[in-house]
Amino acid sequence: MKALCWHGAGDVRVDTVNDPKILNPKDAIIKVTSTAICGSDLHIYDGYIPSMQSGDILGHEFMGEVVEVGSEVKTLKVGDRVVIPFTIACGNCFFCQKDLWSLCDNSNPNAWMIEKMYGHSPSGLFGYSHLFGGYAGGQAEYVRVPFADVGGFKIPDGMSDEQVLFLTDIFPTGYMAAENCNIEPGDTVAVWGCGPVGQFAIRSAFLLGAERVIAIDRIPERLQMAQQGKAEVLNYEEVDAGEALKEMTGGFGPDACIDAVGMEAHGTDAIALYDQIKQAVRLETGRPLALRQAIVACRKGGRVSVPGVYGGFIDKVPMGAVVNKALTLRSGQTHVHRYLRPLLEHIQNGKIDPTFVITHRLKLEDAPKGYDIFKHKKDNCIKVVLNP
Ligand code: NAD
Ligand code: ZN
Repeated sequence: MKALCWHGAGDVRVDTVNDPKILNPKDAIIKVTSTAICGSDLHIYDGYIPSMQSGDILGHEFMGEVVEVGSEVKTLKVGDRVVIPFTIACGNCFFCQKDLWSLCDNSNPNAWMIEKMYGHSPSGLFGYSHLFGGYAGGQAEYVRVPFADVGGFKIPDGMSDEQVLFLTDIFPTGYMAAENCNIEPGDTVAVWGCGPVGQFAIRSAFLLGAERVIAIDRIPERLQMAQQGKAEVLNYEEVDAGEALKEMTGGFGPDACIDAVGMEAHGTDAIALYDQIKQAVRLETGRPLALRQAIVACRKGGRVSVPGVYGGFIDKVPMGAVVNKALTLRSGQTHVHRYLRPLLEHIQNGKIDPTFVITHRLKLEDAPKGYDIFKHKKDNCIKVVLNP
């Protein structure tokens, strides 16, 4: 089959590789009909995620048709159309039973080794390095899905791929980021980053009752899409976002802040000015550090929600501000399974049409071009969907 494989930083290629096989009786094989490129894929593309091997297949946002099931698969059958959460979960462990699906204890076969190396070990993710279990991803013609009864979410007839594809990740991720803000009527929510995750965070904040959403980025077409979603916008290259947020909220600060940027704001070579918190929210380049700015901007007693992905010790957190302002910090990989049914209902009853975010549709063969335009924001690119 054809699959998008990683060969080093900035080097992805469509290769011919072996078809996946059933390895465990709970597996299913999916023929991928649609898959997307995510901001999280860019961390791998940029070489920030350790333990990638040349030839690893990327992709964690995908859906398709069941073509084979293992002997212990009970709820799926050949021919079913399914959406697959990017987080792999067994459904039976302590964490899955507590609705904390992205913390599953049984989905990372490398956990024993990773725990020794890093002191903690993440759960399994599709197409996201050997640190996250070494699973082949879904930017491919076929993919093996472990715990298929738990992950495979059947799609009702009559709904298009594009309507439901983002249930795999970015819609629940934006939604959980907003839910982690415990939004109350009248609240103002600030969102750093107007990429796909930020876009869904903005719309989810309104779905959950925010009165105002203020979105921060520098890319004009992303700010424009945020405005179409009823957000007020700030271009951080034109204004000091921290100061502007204060002014826009009567000196108070937003009630809740979402960092939907992650490590892109930092880069690996970032040298921040640490002498004063006010300066330390900016790099020497003048680029604001989204997480620190969110903590400093948030009102006292407010909530800071971090869907943005970090690794290692990339940031210094202004912990003094967290303590003195009694902030609540919440984060995590998304518990996608928790949100599949309620968000599908929002799509079905017309509260949101997730296709708004798609700017590019490409063949799988053109995936390397997709990575290039998404990474460099060329051609007004906001979200790329690939059709194998
Ligand atoms: P993206 O790269 O398309 O979007 C990031 C946006 O942030 C860009 O528009 C960029 O211009 C903007 N930006 C950069 N620096 C900024 C700054 N200092 N202030 C404000 N905006 C800034 O990516 P995406 O697909 O939207 O993903 C966003 C983040 O969410 C990534 O870190 C991704 O890994 C993470 N993510 C997390 C989960 C999860 O489960 N927690 C799931 C999916 C994605
Ligand atoms: Zn993703």
